[in-house]
Amino acid sequence: MAVLTLPGWWRSRISRYRLVGARCKDCGRTHYPPRPACPYCGSRSLEPVELPRDGVLESYTVIYSSPGDHRLDSPVILGLVNLGPTRVIAELTDVTPEELRTGMPVEAVIRRVDEQGETGIIAYAVKFRPKLGVSHGVGGGPEKA
Ligand SMILES: [Zn+2]
Repeated sequence: MAVLTLPGWWRSRISRYRLVGARCKDCGRTHYPPRPACPYCGSRSLEPVELPRDGVLESYTVIYSSPGDHRLDSPVILGLVNLGPTRVIAELTDVTPEELRTGMPVEAVIRRVDEQGETGIIAYAVKFRPKLGVSHGVGGGPEKA
């Protein structure tokens, strides 16, 4: 993996936003999120590995909320993102279904998704959004500055 050469204050600030998966020392494959055992060969000989935040959207599914759901205002979009070492299934954000294209570059963002009232535990979730300033490869529109 690339060595972080950023100043310490920045490094510590982004550490919680890193995308850390697990690499199997036996079969060499990487998975995310980390599990106690390799999903490919069952080995428990795993090591943490930082994943790239940039990926490519391979496919996606749009899920429209059912009646009674509190997220009626927008559909949930699940994407299969190829990060290189592994693929991740995660929610896509900051995008509408009409804007989605397979093969478009996306980047990981960490979003606070919920705060449990009784325990005070704050849950963070990895989501992906279209990479800013990158053409989606269709329409031939001008690049954003
Ligand atoms: Zn394995």
